[in-house]
Amino acid sequence: MNKLIFEKSTKDRQAILFPKVQVRKKNIDDLLPKSFIRQSSPSLPELSELEVVRHFVGLSNLNHCIDTGFYPLGSCTMKYNPKINDAMANIAGFRELHPLQPEDQIQGALELLYSLQQNIADIVGLPAVTLQPSAGAQGELLGLMLIKAYFKNKGDNSRVKVIVPDTAHGTNPASAALAGFEVVEIGSNVKGLVDIDSLKASLGPDVAAIMLTNPNTLGLFEEDIQYIQKLVHDSGALLYYDGANLNAIMGLVRPGDMGFDVCHLNLHKTFSTPHGGGGPGGCAVAVRQHLEPFLPVPIVKKNNDNSYSFDYDRPQSVGKIKGFYGNFGILVRALSYILAHGANGLSQVSKDAILSANYLKSKLKNNYQFPYTQSCMHEFVMSGSKQKARGVSTTNIAKRLLDFGIHAPTVYFPLLVPEAMMIEPTETESKQTLDEFIDVMLQIDKETIESPDIVLNAPTKTPVGKLDEALAARKPNLRWNPNS
Ligand SMILES: *Cc1c(COP(=O)(O)O)cnc(C)c1O
Repeated sequence: MNKLIFEKSTKDRQAILFPKVQVRKKNIDDLLPKSFIRQSSPSLPELSELEVVRHFVGLSNLNHCIDTGFYPLGSCTMKYNPKINDAMANIAGFRELHPLQPEDQIQGALELLYSLQQNIADIVGLPAVTLQPSAGAQGELLGLMLIKAYFKNKGDNSRVKVIVPDTAHGTNPASAALAGFEVVEIGSNVKGLVDIDSLKASLGPDVAAIMLTNPNTLGLFEEDIQYIQKLVHDSGALLYYDGANLNAIMGLVRPGDMGFDVCHLNLHKTFSTPHGGGGPGGCAVAVRQHLEPFLPVPIVKKNNDNSYSFDYDRPQSVGKIKGFYGNFGILVRALSYILAHGANGLSQVSKDAILSANYLKSKLKNNYQFPYTQSCMHEFVMSGSKQKARGVSTTNIAKRLLDFGIHAPTVYFPLLVPEAMMIEPTETESKQTLDEFIDVMLQIDKETIESPDIVLNAPTKTPVGKLDEALAARKPNLRWNPNS
């Protein structure tokens, strides 16, 4: 591996020449408290600009990313994000906006936000939309705050519980707890779907909502959703839709039509924002009319003279969930993506995502164990239990994939499938790539029989080999210390 940046440091080498300080030493002493003034230079690596560039480009080359390889990380929708959408977000008139600019100078940006709100309302079948939250989990928190405000406004203070199935994404129970609800977990049936008896037993006058994602985290469509929504609504509770995985259903079925009252969308999964590595996300939350008064301020509205403005006059609003108006650059990408595809294009995206997943599933079914055999939506969960019986775990298989330049699937989640591998190929991969992945998975299966050591010792071709994970978790070495 390349030398690290601080190991390359050469005394007095510089990338930038700073102008001479104009303030006299004596004045600095007057301006700043003494304890704030450095007595010696900080110990930073000393390098030329070119060395710094090589360092960072070198680091970026060590990463796996969608631009360099297949990334079937289930539930994360690591699909290709067309570069045109980045280019749109990079148009100077969008990029250089200031959040405090007066409304009459930002009519184009407001129109864009308004149009995105309308498009998302159409896509999910719920009339009112906010674009403020910065990621899925924050959208969930907001959605639950809206539900809470709704019941409070009705004078119903008894609804303190939120039902979450055992297949839910971990953020669901976390968001419910953060919003001040008590979390009630319900089980799944043998088909991997919501267990109706368990649901019936949990519903009551103390339940505010159920949080569901459909397809669920096993990649399976909740076929009883109409019945579920009736049970929930009849009990006086609301339905929250976790729309992080909208890639599965765009243009095919709408959360509003399934009976959901609140829904969040991860714009950084389905709607073309590169993600992973903790970059900025974006989220829309859409609600039925009766929850609209509680949405955060401001909402973008269109006035009678066709101008646009921020509406702050919302006395029942839960307030703000994030500074300003949402992650604007992400919102530009989302609208660009939606308009470039059109209605038919978006439904084709979902159809292709479903086809890709079912293709992989059918090609792997003889070699890996599938706890649920019905067709899947955009992703599926299989088990490495056959391979485990040969002494090779799902972790080993995941590491072995790295040797082939393929990112590992999501592993050991959801918890109800032992040795789980959650695979989401997405619609943007070609059949050739899917076939290569199938070949690799079949080869690894064969290795678990014929030469398990290859899998057990993987990866050997990555810049960093097999790590001591316990040590990495307990004693992470994340920061350069000049004295160490
Ligand atoms: C990714 C995901 C989330 C969380 O979204 P973040 O943007 O990472 O906060 C929630 N639910 C499901 C089903 C997800 O896949």
